[in-house]
Amino acid sequence: MLHHDLHCHSNVSDGTLTPTELVARAAAREVKVLALTDHDDVAGLAEAAQAAAQHGIEFINGVEISVSWRSHTVHIVGLRIDPLNPALVEGLRGIRSGRRHRAELMAESLAGAGIGGVLAGALRYPSNPDMIGRTHFARYLVEAGQCKDVKSVFNRYLVKGKPGYVPHEWGNLQEAISWINGSGGIAVLAHPGRYTAGRKAMGKTTLLELLKEFTDSGGRGIEVVSGSHTPPQFAEFARYAREFGLLCSCGSDFHGPDESYRDLGRLPDFPLDCQPVWNHWKTVA
Ligand code: AMP
Ligand code: MN
Ligand code: MN
Ligand code: MN
Repeated sequence: MLHHDLHCHSNVSDGTLTPTELVARAAAREVKVLALTDHDDVAGLAEAAQAAAQHGIEFINGVEISVSWRSHTVHIVGLRIDPLNPALVEGLRGIRSGRRHRAELMAESLAGAGIGGVLAGALRYPSNPDMIGRTHFARYLVEAGQCKDVKSVFNRYLVKGKPGYVPHEWGNLQEAISWINGSGGIAVLAHPGRYTAGRKAMGKTTLLELLKEFTDSGGRGIEVVSGSHTPPQFAEFARYAREFGLLCSCGSDFHGPDESYRDLGRLPDFPLDCQPVWNHWKTVA
């Protein structure tokens, strides 16, 4: 069992727990090293770091940056970033800035499918309205009785080809990696297994092209053990890590007690030949 959880969300983005509650839950679940990786925002890191110090957990400043690559949305996790780095702060602000307008278009699309009044309902969920995203819409659609849970919402709505989906231009891959590297962090390709699943997903060849471009642009790691991967995918992405010389990361991608594929911590071990990302920072410390 791994005692590191290097990917999770608080209510600063689309998690349900405050940073303090999240850290307390991680501590209760035997996490020893925790990274908070909210989408496109670092506003929860100071609070989480303080809570982690109280619980005796090693805390890592993180972020998960939304990127548009070709026709796909890809997520890049930054670990050990400096949350005060001006280029990173400014870059994240730019990425967040389009969320409100996108939400208006999502609500229009749902209204066109006969579901009205969603924007006002969804806006009650994020702690910061500028962070409004698909998860908040999903929670409201459950509340409104359209679906039984958040997972079922994503089967019927909000994804490519379904009502409520609005294509969006996020950050640029090279830029996101350079903000992370420039702030002293390590860029990690988040949950690669999610890019090859579902409608209009990437083929394997395209995923390999993404890995090449990511590595050539200064990306250093890949999530091997992720809450959204199956055990065969742990082995598959460990192989890619070896092939591309990438460090291996792990994280639950926890969003909340009732919503996530996997709770905080207690992740299964890496396949045997993985180089954990934390070996790297032990040597640079
Ligand atoms: P956004 O950044 O607004 O596009 O929202 C993306 C978020 O939606 C992800 O970080 C997940 O939290 C959530 N999400 C996307 N697809 C699914 C899915 N199939 N099931 C559950 N949650 C999902
Ligand atoms: Mn999310
Ligand atoms: Mn993600
Ligand atoms: Mn995530």
